[in-house]
Amino acid sequence: MTDELMKALAAMVEGLKVRALETIPELAGLKMNEDTELTIEYDWKIRPAHAQALVDCGLLKLRQQLPRPWARVVKSLRPCKVKRPLSFDLWGKYYPDKQKIVIYDQSSSLIICALCYKMGSLCVPVPSIRILAHTHMISHAISHLGIDKNGKMWDGYADASQELKELFAQAYSYHFFLAYGKFLEAYLMESFSEHQCEAYNQWQKYRNNLAGLNKKLMRVRNKEGMMSKEII
Ligand SMILES: [Zn+2]
Repeated sequence: MTDELMKALAAMVEGLKVRALETIPELAGLKMNEDTELTIEYDWKIRPAHAQALVDCGLLKLRQQLPRPWARVVKSLRPCKVKRPLSFDLWGKYYPDKQKIVIYDQSSSLIICALCYKMGSLCVPVPSIRILAHTHMISHAISHLGIDKNGKMWDGYADASQELKELFAQAYSYHFFLAYGKFLEAYLMESFSEHQCEAYNQWQKYRNNLAGLNKKLMRVRNKEGMMSKEII
């Protein structure tokens, strides 16, 4: 992955809106159009749906309202078996039509806090949470907006299956972490995915096969309509 993306990652953590990444990961062999703009926004609230999902899967116990401040969130956690794997992005949402990423900063922290408690550790550095969040969400954007050697974006992205979208977001994140020595983040991503649904675990098939992953992305992008919904 290029230095430019690294600088962009750093800028995103500090800023609220970021100019397009002019160069994107060599991992995917894609380039960004010069006039493509990717917007990053931050949602600082705890999203009720996320808290409810944690309750549903047995990681969080709530009484009447969402607990706050943070100390009370931690106290409300309880060890248990995860009843239902998490089936949504832990980190935020990518809006392909608006070319916008929204990072769920507080919700991400809440979920990670809950998962870490489940895993027997309460200590994940906040910068690592933010690196995980930005890398995953930017990987979504790049797999969609990046221009391939045919001069095309992934036109069928919006209609593609969750499995495909999450395969690329997860797998490129993992390869990025390994390539840049971010082994803690690689370990955390792997650990968290054990508590996520199947769609978030397809990346394991490509953990040692970056070339195969790139081929897969090119193949999927160049298929139309229903074909882009193929199973991994
Ligand atoms: Zn995702």
